[in-house]
Amino acid sequence: MREKIARPDDVRRWPGDFPVAHRYTPGVAGEAFFTALRDRGAILGSRCERCAYTYVPARLFCERCFAELDAGVELGPGGTLVSFTIGFAGLEGEPLDRPVTLGLVRLDAADAVLLHHVLEPGDEPLEIGERVEVVLRPPEERTGSILDIQGFALAETESE
Ligand SMILES: [Zn+2]
Repeated sequence: MREKIARPDDVRRWPGDFPVAHRYTPGVAGEAFFTALRDRGAILGSRCERCAYTYVPARLFCERCFAELDAGVELGPGGTLVSFTIGFAGLEGEPLDRPVTLGLVRLDAADAVLLHHVLEPGDEPLEIGERVEVVLRPPEERTGSILDIQGFALAETESE
């Protein structure tokens, strides 16, 4: 007879830790993306003309038709919030001191979306379709990482 576990807390658990180290190389297009981000504060994407699709970050080939691409498109800093979530717990389930807001943003002229923090979302509820802008770290603090982007800030709304 099989026992069905209905609640994940009911399973027998064996606490422990599991140290894992890895190195992951960014590849040719990733290298171009991170170098441009660090040195020029530029966000590079790749356009596939055949598929009429612009990827970000830049990549070496089109995931749809396998055409060779280059990191030839500069995107942002403006974009549109496509989706978002608010996290109240960390990766290990620990409660966070402050909730973290993550947004999926389609940068202007891009088709793919980029995931990053939404900075100071404020008291008003966020809305899909809101205008945002990429906020970069100061040049002297950039290291060639996705964290050279601090996140997305809500764009100033134009008065009517
Ligand atoms: Zn393509």
